[in-house]
Amino acid sequence: MSRKVIVADNAGFCYGVKRAITLAERASKSHKSVYTLGPIIHNPQEVNRLASIGVKSSDILPEDKNATLIIRSHGISPEDELFLRNAFSNVIDATCPYVKAVHEAVSTLAKEGYFVVIVGEKDHPEVKGTVGYLEQEGGEYAIINSIEDLDNIEASKIGVVAQTTQNEHFFEGVVLKLLRKAKDLRVINTICNATNERQSDIYRLAPNVDVMIIIGGKSSGNTRRLYEISKSLNPHSYHIETKEEIPLDWLENVSSIGLSAGASTPDWIIEDVKNFIESLP
Ligand code: SF4
Repeated sequence: MSRKVIVADNAGFCYGVKRAITLAERASKSHKSVYTLGPIIHNPQEVNRLASIGVKSSDILPEDKNATLIIRSHGISPEDELFLRNAFSNVIDATCPYVKAVHEAVSTLAKEGYFVVIVGEKDHPEVKGTVGYLEQEGGEYAIINSIEDLDNIEASKIGVVAQTTQNEHFFEGVVLKLLRKAKDLRVINTICNATNERQSDIYRLAPNVDVMIIIGGKSSGNTRRLYEISKSLNPHSYHIETKEEIPLDWLENVSSIGLSAGASTPDWIIEDVKNFIESLP
């Protein structure tokens, strides 16, 4: 049986990740000691590749105050940024402009007296950074990850934003429920274009193939959401980081395979998986 592999039109690195990687590669050429605080993106294979050219990922601050520090694409709180800029002579800000737009949105909402609902994961670095901007303005807020979380919100003047990589349909559900709750509701859709495009591709592709494989870091939130959407449309959906995780029985009697990848998955891993599947007898 011949096997067809269809790669989603929008798969892998997004604009914000490409920008962060380019800044890191450039820094590695012109600076001796380069660090990112935490992995620059949620993809261990790409983080290892960057380490091999001198961009180290560290969870603690380096002792060398002349080191170059890169702020990741997820962004950080203004307080943390100020601290880093005071402590280190060279700080490169690789925060994605879409994440910066969320920072601006929540600051504006807080200044205008809205109770801010952030649709997102409370432990995600992007959300933690966003909360820092709200707290800077003294804003009240709640981070919600399920429709039930909204039951505890009493405010009547509510502003709502999303973590940039949230599921669009879930965001719509939250907004609908808030419509019934709030007298004054301000919606700022901060889900980024890259997320929209990748999720739309899954809605088109997953129901029309025998097996759907989503490639990306296991700790990458946007990859996990692509997988969840895919799984809801096609029970034969799988989330892998590399080709080594594909057992042959997934592909037995299968004639079409859809491939997609999170925004932090490099092209070389997508190609590797595609070539592997196409090389199978
Ligand atoms: S997924 Fe969106 S917000 Fe995140 S880095 Fe990519 S473009 Fe920026």
